[in-house]
Amino acid sequence: MNSKAYDVLIVGGGGAGLTAALYTSRAKLSTVLLEKLTPGGQIALTDLVENYPGFPEGVTGTEISQRMEEQAKRYGTEVIYDEVTALEKKNGNFVVKRDGGEPLEAKSLIVASGASYRNLGVPGERELTGKGVSYCATCDGAFFKEKELVIVGGGDSAMQEGLFLTRFATKITVVHRRDKLRASPILQERAVKHPKIKFIWNTVVTEVLGEKKVERVKLKNVESGKVEDFKTDGIFVFIGHDPNTGFLKGVVTLDEKGYVKADDKLQTSVPGIFVCGEVRAGAVKQLVSCCGEGCEAALAAQDYLEHLS
Ligand code: NAP
Repeated sequence: MNSKAYDVLIVGGGGAGLTAALYTSRAKLSTVLLEKLTPGGQIALTDLVENYPGFPEGVTGTEISQRMEEQAKRYGTEVIYDEVTALEKKNGNFVVKRDGGEPLEAKSLIVASGASYRNLGVPGERELTGKGVSYCATCDGAFFKEKELVIVGGGDSAMQEGLFLTRFATKITVVHRRDKLRASPILQERAVKHPKIKFIWNTVVTEVLGEKKVERVKLKNVESGKVEDFKTDGIFVFIGHDPNTGFLKGVVTLDEKGYVKADDKLQTSVPGIFVCGEVRAGAVKQLVSCCGEGCEAALAAQDYLEHLS
C-alpha cells in the first residue's frame, strides 16, 4: 500500500467531486481524486450545458469538465483514473481499494461517485448495444446521419439528448410510458415543437430486434395492451440512473434505492465520510447544485480534519 495518507480522498470526478477537490486543495489539504472514466462524469457526455451560470451561450460538457479538472489540478489535486472496488477503515484512516493499483489511504473521504445510466432490461438490448442501442447521444449520435431513431424516456435527458440527435437523424420517435413528460417545461416545449420529433405515449419497449444491428423494436401500449413492431435504425435509452454505491454497501447507510444518506453537513453515517452530488439521497441532480454540494462537503471535511486529535 502507498504509505502516504492523504488528508482527503475523493471518489468521483464529476462536477461535485471536482469542486470538492478544488476547495480542499486550495485549503492546502493533500487531495487525491479517483475517477473511473473521464473528467466531468456524466456532464462530459452532455453536448451543451445551458443552465450553468456564467455561460450565456452555453458551454460544451467536454469543455466545462476539462476546465474543472484543470482548475483542481492547478491547486495540487492528484487525479488518478481508476475504479474503487472496496473501502475499509484501518487505524483511524480510510483505505480505498482500487482496480488497477495499490490501495490508497486517507484521513477523510468525500463520496462523489454519481450514478450510471439505467438499462431497459429487455431482450435484445444487451446483444445490440453498440449495434444501434445507445445510452449516449454525444458519443454515438454521428453514427445515425439520415437515420430514424427511437428514444425511450420522458425526462430532461430524453428531451435534451433527443434535441441534440435531430442534428443527425431524419426522424425521432420518443416512446414514453405515460402521457405526460417529466422533463422541465423549456425542454418539453422545444421537443414537442420540433418538426423531427414525434411522440408515442403510454407505451414501453419490450424487445429490441435485429440480426446484426437494430432493425425494429417491439412496442406495447400499457393501456390497451396492443403490441406492434416499429421499424427503427437505432434506439437511445434515457430512463434515469442508479447510484454508484456498490463499494459502500455495509459501510455507510444507504436509502432503499442505494443512494447515500447524509445529514445537513453532508456527513454520512460514518464520521469522516462525506457525500455530495447525484449519489446523495435527496440531491437535486443539476450540475450547479452538485458543484455547490462539492463545496459544502469539502468545507465539512476541512472542519472534520481540524478537529481530529
Ligand atoms: P429522470 O428524470 O429520472 O427521467 C427518467 C424518465 O425515464 C422518466 O420519464 C421515466 O418515466 C422514464 N423511465 C424510468 N424507468 C423507465 C423504464 N423502465 N421504462 C421506460 N421509461 C422509464 O432521468 P433523467 O432524464 O436522466 O434526469 C436525471 C436528473 O438529471 C434529473 O434530475 C434531471 O432534471 C437532470 N438533468 C437535467 C438536465 C438539464 O437541466 N438540462 C439534463 C439532463 C438531466 P416517468 O416519468 O413515468 O417516471
